Amino acid sequence: MKNPVAVPETIPLSSILPTEPLLLMGAGPVPIPPAVADANGLIINHLGQTMNVVIERVKTMAQYVFQTASNNIFGIAGPSSAAMEMAVTNLLWEGRKILVLNIGTFSKRFGEMAEAVGAECHYLEPEGLQPIPADMVEEILKREQFDVVTMVQGETSCGIHNTELPQIVKLVKAHGALAVVDAVCTLTTMPLDMDGWDIDVVVTGGQKGLSSIPGVSLIAFSEDAWRQIESRPTSCPHWCLDARRARKFWQFQQYHYTAPVPGILALHEALRIICEETLPQRFERHEMSSLALQAGIEAMGLRLFIPKAYRLNSVVAIDIPKGIDSHDMRSYMTKTFHVEISGAFGLNIVRIGQMGEQCRSYNLFRVLYAMGMSFKHFGVSLNISKGMGLLEENLVKDEKHFVR
Ligand SMILES: *Cc1c(COP(=O)(O)O)cnc(C)c1O
Repeated sequence: MKNPVAVPETIPLSSILPTEPLLLMGAGPVPIPPAVADANGLIINHLGQTMNVVIERVKTMAQYVFQTASNNIFGIAGPSSAAMEMAVTNLLWEGRKILVLNIGTFSKRFGEMAEAVGAECHYLEPEGLQPIPADMVEEILKREQFDVVTMVQGETSCGIHNTELPQIVKLVKAHGALAVVDAVCTLTTMPLDMDGWDIDVVVTGGQKGLSSIPGVSLIAFSEDAWRQIESRPTSCPHWCLDARRARKFWQFQQYHYTAPVPGILALHEALRIICEETLPQRFERHEMSSLALQAGIEAMGLRLFIPKAYRLNSVVAIDIPKGIDSHDMRSYMTKTFHVEISGAFGLNIVRIGQMGEQCRSYNLFRVLYAMGMSFKHFGVSLNISKGMGLLEENLVKDEKHFVR
């Protein structure tokens, strides 16, 4: 060996991890139920009889969470962004035209991906921080023809809910384009009706609304979308993300690549827990939890970043009071209270997630107290007990939701 690499010092993971696990109350990943964690520790043959049953169950349960009869539902070994990329790279190529409804980091990501496959990319952005108005979409659709229109249901980066999404999808379809929706942070935290709203592609990830692990994602295609994939003139530039190849595994039990077995088992358990809770109960739990948290935050004396009319409940953005450094405040909070929340990409806010297991009373009290005390530590004048009181008053109305 010319330049032998020396054996590195070995450090067990246990001495890298904090002695007590941190409570993840940021914008994802989120805490996972014990059954999901246990499943994630298992390995089975990716092509055996057992796996075939698991895949069928995952698809059936995914049809329920997406509210679709589509059989074109695939899992993806990759982050939610890989699911977004599967949508983009299979439906777009040189000569195709996409309209990106852009209200922040994640909505814009569809455009970055579309440009990379050579599609003609147009962006529609409303003035300032607000959801996409349906009439703004209608206006451009009347003037120009697009193959695909992409949008997010909830823009996690700033906490905006695209409130007119069903109307927008309707317009998109009426003008002959495909509607692609990113429901990564919102799926199962608020209603989404893929077939009822006529959406062509829904993408989601594991680590947010579903309360599973990061790195294994789900996507569903409508019949309209699938016809265009089947008849595309060129091959898909991404071998792993090629939907026609993925279909071999997800519909015909044949080899595409070695499936992320533990992640799929984890997803199975996450979906089972959602089906046991049922969607209406889960939506109610999320809404009540987030509204109670928001009431507590405001009663404490902090300000919410997004107006109520289009505030996303799944990820709540909070103004950082003047003179406070987000990073210092959050590291103090982590060190002192063992609770983590998120900063933001370039905005002066912190964000608290309200997805899946984050919406439990014991987590709400802990995060609100920890955040309030941490801002107070840096000199912000807050009424912590008033905030905690309001949280409690808003939660007791229906405590059945908050135990597991
Ligand atoms: C988190 C998030 C993504 C990206 O998820 P990754 O798993 O990090 O790729 C995409 N869209 C939305 C709306 C998100 O919240």
